[in-house]
Amino acid sequence: MTERLYYKDPYLREAEAIVEDIRFEGEKVAIKLDKTIFYPEGGGQPGDRGRIKGKEFEILVENTVEKPDGIWHIGTLKGSTPQKGEKVKLDLDWHWRYENMKIHTGQHILSAILKKLYDLDTSGFHIFEDYAKIEVNGEVTWEMIERAELETNAIIQKDLPVIIEEYKYLPDDIASILRKHVTKVKDKVRIVKIGDVDMTPCGGTHVKSTKEVGFLKVIRFYKKSKGIWRIEFVAGERAIRKLNEILKDYWGALDIMPNKNPPLSERVREILESIDKLEDEFDAQRRELWKWKEQALLSRSWEVGNYNVVTFVESWDMKDAQAFAVDFVKNNPGTIVILASDDYVIFARNEEVPVSMKDLLKKVLEELGGKGGGTDNLARGKIEAEPEDVIDVALEKLKEMLKA
Ligand SMILES: [Zn+2]
Repeated sequence: MTERLYYKDPYLREAEAIVEDIRFEGEKVAIKLDKTIFYPEGGGQPGDRGRIKGKEFEILVENTVEKPDGIWHIGTLKGSTPQKGEKVKLDLDWHWRYENMKIHTGQHILSAILKKLYDLDTSGFHIFEDYAKIEVNGEVTWEMIERAELETNAIIQKDLPVIIEEYKYLPDDIASILRKHVTKVKDKVRIVKIGDVDMTPCGGTHVKSTKEVGFLKVIRFYKKSKGIWRIEFVAGERAIRKLNEILKDYWGALDIMPNKNPPLSERVREILESIDKLEDEFDAQRRELWKWKEQALLSRSWEVGNYNVVTFVESWDMKDAQAFAVDFVKNNPGTIVILASDDYVIFARNEEVPVSMKDLLKKVLEELGGKGGGTDNLARGKIEAEPEDVIDVALEKLKEMLKA
């Protein structure tokens, strides 16, 4: 089993170790050592990164994971294949680890405060590249969050010691006051104690003083599922980076608004209202246009039997053309619309007309090829022919059908 140097001293950035095993996984190499300063992914904290140097190789470690047989460092190999028994130098990506330690310790404090103030239990915890999240078992509001943030940051400022104690058997007086209950101690359990603020079991890495967390800020929260609320937060250096990213987006969005004064939500509401108004206006204009188009088409319609057939070539998109055709036949008893474009054909009838549009389209397709279908009232298809030719054929077929 790999010896975990990161538990003895989480501030250890360099160490020496012996290669125990090597595996290749596709393009990546995985290496197991007798001991390591690299924390393996687990308990919500990501795996460590860094470098492992041998005599004739270097591994750029991108992740560290724990398997039943030990801790594996996964990365890209440069140079020759490492040999079992070879001595290597470990060089931790300290910046990555230290920020994870800050955010992890910050999480303990935030979770403790949420428990103290609102009796919320933290279930899930996960650190992502640029923020972290926890899940709590109840609703939160911005007022609750703000109070918890103020208390959390006050504790961070207090410079309280973070002490780790390991137990093989958990004494009852400790087990009873833990924020998270320990059901069974497998090998040994690590208890993380932050001043008199929090005491909880945890296998992660933490800073030694709360002050090192720097600053903690909740950036977002929402209901994840029934009874579960997710809280996203940042701490340490990532707090500055993430808040800047959010603020850049906020002010950038205001900057492209016609009215650049905050709040942004007001400006967005104004824009949505103006879109609604424009849509209403556009709809009214379209109705007006349809009315004129209807008149023009009726004035040059074909009389077939007792029915009026209007034929025309259209360039509108199909949805609009279909809406128009349906509206046209609805308003004008005894009419049929035959319209064609480069991409589609649409046949529509008023209900008084005793000919099925589906059947009409079928006959046209039999002659010209293509595909399509529909109902007795409305049929739609795609035919590889000039729109004018489609109209001519459709008109011929319709005449035949109406005579029959
Ligand atoms: Zn922890």
